[in-house]
Amino acid sequence: MAILKVARMGHPVLRAKALPVPPGQIQAPSVQRLINDMFETMREYSGIGLAAPQVHEGLRIFVAGVREGAPGDVVNEDDDMPFLALINPELTFLTEPTHEGWEGCLSIPDVRGLVPRAAEIRVQGFDREGRRVSFTATGLPARVIQHETDHLDGVLFMDRMPTLHSLTFMEEYRRFRPEEDE
Ligand SMILES: [Zn+2]
Repeated sequence: MAILKVARMGHPVLRAKALPVPPGQIQAPSVQRLINDMFETMREYSGIGLAAPQVHEGLRIFVAGVREGAPGDVVNEDDDMPFLALINPELTFLTEPTHEGWEGCLSIPDVRGLVPRAAEIRVQGFDREGRRVSFTATGLPARVIQHETDHLDGVLFMDRMPTLHSLTFMEEYRRFRPEEDE
């Protein structure tokens, strides 16, 4: 495995639309290696999600989560999301995208902002074995999945902020919002 270089805001790869992975190629060694490297990179930088365009690969793949867990229980945990790799994700909003929460991004280091998202979503796509998956996500996993899927369409979290008033550096976030979760 390898730790990959993370593209930062301003790199055109973050603004391009990523291409679907043909389902028959999901188990190809190159795709499996990319997924392994994305997990390692996400953990190295203490992220909770990482999309392929963030490591300069224009493919519709993201990884997310913070702990080992069975694929069946991926979705409703609020603060300890199990590891998940999703390929060609398709999201359906089950609630209006109005639920505000803090987001950061490995491609926009040391910045946080309040972003409205759907509190509940339907997620369809493929897992890393190439099997179709379909599940409902709520809470933090729903937020992370929306953030990462946006990356596949060249969208960054700031694009989703109706106002930039809450935009905060991490140092000031810790200083002035000690009641918030990290
Ligand atoms: Zn991000």
